Amino acid sequence: MRKISLLLVLLIFAGTAHADPGKCIPRDPRDCTIVLTFDDGPKPDVLPELLAFLKKEKISGTFYILGWKASNRPELIRQIHAEGHLIANHTMNHETFEELVSRKFGKPKPNMTTEEKKEREARVREKVAALYLEDVERSAQVTQKILGYRPLFFRPPRWQITQELYCALENAGYLVQTKSSGIHDHLCPRRQEILRGIEANFRQGVPRTSRQEYKRYGELKEIERRDVNTTDYDFFEWYAKKGKRSFMKDGFEVWVKSQFKAMGLSLLRADLERISVGYEKNHEQAVVDLFTILVRGLIQKRESAGTNIHILAMHELKLTARALYSLVPELRKRGYRFENIAFVYGIPGCVGRDKYGSLHCSQQ
Ligand SMILES: [Zn+2]
Repeated sequence: MRKISLLLVLLIFAGTAHADPGKCIPRDPRDCTIVLTFDDGPKPDVLPELLAFLKKEKISGTFYILGWKASNRPELIRQIHAEGHLIANHTMNHETFEELVSRKFGKPKPNMTTEEKKEREARVREKVAALYLEDVERSAQVTQKILGYRPLFFRPPRWQITQELYCALENAGYLVQTKSSGIHDHLCPRRQEILRGIEANFRQGVPRTSRQEYKRYGELKEIERRDVNTTDYDFFEWYAKKGKRSFMKDGFEVWVKSQFKAMGLSLLRADLERISVGYEKNHEQAVVDLFTILVRGLIQKRESAGTNIHILAMHELKLTARALYSLVPELRKRGYRFENIAFVYGIPGCVGRDKYGSLHCSQQ
């Protein structure tokens, strides 16, 4: 009996030890990878600091840029590209699908039922998809003008996407990142054809060593949905607006808890208390620490669900960059490496398409 209880105690200890995040063990060449992605730039006030950090850490990031910002500051796009990062498309002006519907077809009437709203949306969906695509293309042309190629990867603003839109973008040759489980690749009629086209281009353009790592594009649908929204914008915007004035008052704790809960994470009482105390000394650092805990928790949650490729969706924000200062070395110690999104897709070195639609890749 005593032996059995001793064994039980040992098992319990083994169990708790296991809960600590250990080393990431790759089962596939692309495993244990973190993709740092930065949306809504280029932002001249943040970019130099962020680029300096990425250079120091030898990380290739992925920048989902807005066409209007890029056309205002083409030298920043050239710098991002020259420093080995990947430029991706995030529309011209950050207009979402719903905003486009409202702008072109008017806002839904306040007394409309959900059914009526759905019906209205169905009527305009195809037209909106075409207009949306035009906007994405305009943004692509801005990059084409600056760098000589069109970005290959696209992420919709605020993750808003419909099936029609998804297929339209895929047909136009984009690889679309989305978190929506309601989007299905097999419903895009030309997808397989396009994927075969990419494969053919890829075989011509990339040397053998990279090809060996390459897997069929048909397997990519899972990866496309691997984006992790870190909600850094919500987090730091809240802080910028309210936090400085009243960190612990004004429902801060309630707000933080709701953020963590919305992401299926729990925040330890001890962590919250530690940060509250730290806040007295350094406001910004406390918020950065909280964000760090959030990202760490998100990664651990995904690991326990069996995923070890994490595409972190973030923004070009000073506080995001500062959170990365501690997160990057910590995750490296755990066995993770940092790559841009083309690596996760099995096409390392591929940045875009040329004007004929062929893949544009550097020889690696
Ligand atoms: Zn965005």
